[in-house]
Amino acid sequence: MIRTRFAPSPTGYLHIGGVRTALFNWLFARKHGGKFLLRIDDTDAQRNVNEALAPILHGFRWLGLDWDEGPEVGGPFGPYYQSQRMDVYRSAAEKLLAAGFAYRDFATTEEIQAEREAAEREKRQFTYSRRWMAETEADCKRFESEGRAAVVRLKMPREGTLAIDDLIRSRVDFDWAREQDHVIQRADGTCLYHLASVVDDHDFQISHVIRAEEHLSNTPRQVFIAQGLGYPLPQYAHLPYVAEPGSRNKLSKRKLDKYLKNPDFAKLNEHGQKIAAAIGLAASAETFNPVIVDFYEQVGYLSDAVINYLLLLGWSLDDKTEDFTREEMIAAFSLDRVNKAPASFDPAKLASFQERAMQRMPAKQKVAFVLPYLQRAGIVSSPPPCDIGPKLLALVEAAGDRVKIGGDILEYADFIAPADALDYDDKAVQKRIVKPPEAVELLTKFREHLAKVEPFDAATLDRALHAFVESEGIAIGQIVHATRVAVTGKGVGFGLFETLALLGRERCLGRIDQTLRKVRAS
Ligand code: GLU
Repeated sequence: MIRTRFAPSPTGYLHIGGVRTALFNWLFARKHGGKFLLRIDDTDAQRNVNEALAPILHGFRWLGLDWDEGPEVGGPFGPYYQSQRMDVYRSAAEKLLAAGFAYRDFATTEEIQAEREAAEREKRQFTYSRRWMAETEADCKRFESEGRAAVVRLKMPREGTLAIDDLIRSRVDFDWAREQDHVIQRADGTCLYHLASVVDDHDFQISHVIRAEEHLSNTPRQVFIAQGLGYPLPQYAHLPYVAEPGSRNKLSKRKLDKYLKNPDFAKLNEHGQKIAAAIGLAASAETFNPVIVDFYEQVGYLSDAVINYLLLLGWSLDDKTEDFTREEMIAAFSLDRVNKAPASFDPAKLASFQERAMQRMPAKQKVAFVLPYLQRAGIVSSPPPCDIGPKLLALVEAAGDRVKIGGDILEYADFIAPADALDYDDKAVQKRIVKPPEAVELLTKFREHLAKVEPFDAATLDRALHAFVESEGIAIGQIVHATRVAVTGKGVGFGLFETLALLGRERCLGRIDQTLRKVRAS
């Protein structure tokens, strides 16, 4: 049975690179009819674990990455929180001690540090002298009588090599001599991550440890622990990391300032911040930025687009297929097509997946998707008025591809907003209404036509405007631009007839009056 796991620490956010690792674990399990687990690595948790975990679980649900065992869903091997399994790790440490794979070490931090500094001075690799290693009960007593306390360290081999067959990186060789005697249990009895991870992977019957490349260097000590405990080894697959936009360095939450110098990243961030402000999201840069998954949900990305993009961030089927449904990606996924080189996070590419996903979305579904943005911005009430459906449908259809993410609908909120205050682009007003000598008079006349057009729909408005142009003997541009600016305040937008129909007669007339008053008063 294939069993994979993703093991987040409860940090309070879900990193986009982490999700790519989770996705590959999920796909691999789903493809082989196996199980995908979430394990919570909270051995070092300082704060409330559930609170810090909630955004992570929420992110998984949003992305549709369901887990078969783990927090909230339980499972036969639970609990799946490391903090609740300390006794199990302690008895594993005892076993390693008894079998001679670990030892109690009574060195103080200062003593270890002094050895480290000496090695540095002499420009040689630091290897602990094991001077304070207790080999017998009598040693322990003696060190304890000096007021020392013991940690438990691995007694790592000091010669020879270890070969690992990694499913992505093939054979990787490690020199044991380069390994340290890592601490697996602190003096206060709590156990550390490496021991916990190995014990959990064994107890939860994980068949494949698929994780980020930075854990490759941890693998020798974990293999040593596993072998010391007599566990069979899982298969390892170390994924190349998700790199920064435009570079091969690892994408990190801490280098936001640097990424903001990348134009695509900055554009995405700015776009998102604008939407966040409009919907009243209390978003700090720390928790709301394009490195964090929640950003995409909040601003109106589709989880299918994000998942599809992440799939291709380090994996490909061939050199052309880009769009995959979940079923298709499950069927197509294999670890041997994972790239060995890091893949850079590319916001423009992610945007192209989003654009296509939006294009595939039926208009009615789009209405339901964008409505919450208008509600959160206070433009539409909750529950919404009964006539909002057809209005929004017309708006969504007129906007077409311009609504690229859910929050983009706010750009067109003007068509829905009850308030009639127009936000004028003064340049457009000057160019289209103030400067042309005939504009005010034409607008005044055309207003009277608009008052009578029946029905007030795009096709009839189109005919009415053409009739007006003919009877006045003017060029069409003389009235089209002035009318657009008069009813929207802007020089560009949707087709004029759709715009007029969307706004409705009352609002069009009111806005033309308002604009004429403004121009006359200036
Ligand atoms: N908690 C570890 C991390 O977040 C998991 C490491 C592993 O997958 O073994 O990196």
